[in-house]
Amino acid sequence: MIDCLFCKIIEGKIPATLVYEDGNVVGFKDLRPQAAVHLLFIHRKHTKDINEMTKNDPTQLSDLFHAIRLYTEKNELHKEGFRVVTNQGPFAGQTVFHTHLHVLGGEPLSHFGA
Ligand code: 5GP
Ligand code: ZN
Repeated sequence: MIDCLFCKIIEGKIPATLVYEDGNVVGFKDLRPQAAVHLLFIHRKHTKDINEMTKNDPTQLSDLFHAIRLYTEKNELHKEGFRVVTNQGPFAGQTVFHTHLHVLGGEPLSHFGA
């Protein structure tokens, strides 16, 4: 995918601090962390957002959550808990158009909603 920042991270053309890799998924530290732990998990196959991903091939979403489970169990994030967020489109503030799941944790997170 031409000019996709996260495809370039997958290809090693742009540096990132990788924390997880398997045949389908790459996980790396967010450049501007919003919590003590702030990671991004992306699929090696490019899609622009979560709806495109789940329309094209819903198994990619389970690949991502499989990777997140392995990572959070290995690094004991699962004990205190963590949050998974994805932004789609302008109202949500999506800035990078390669589907990604934010994984936030490592400290108590402010609750949203009621
Ligand atoms: P979005 O706003 O699209 O949901 O999330 C994009 C995320 O990518 C942001 O949290 C931003 O900090 C992160 N980001 C943007 N550019 C880079 C980069 O070059 N490297 C890394 N590691 N993260 C980036
Ligand atoms: Zn991409």
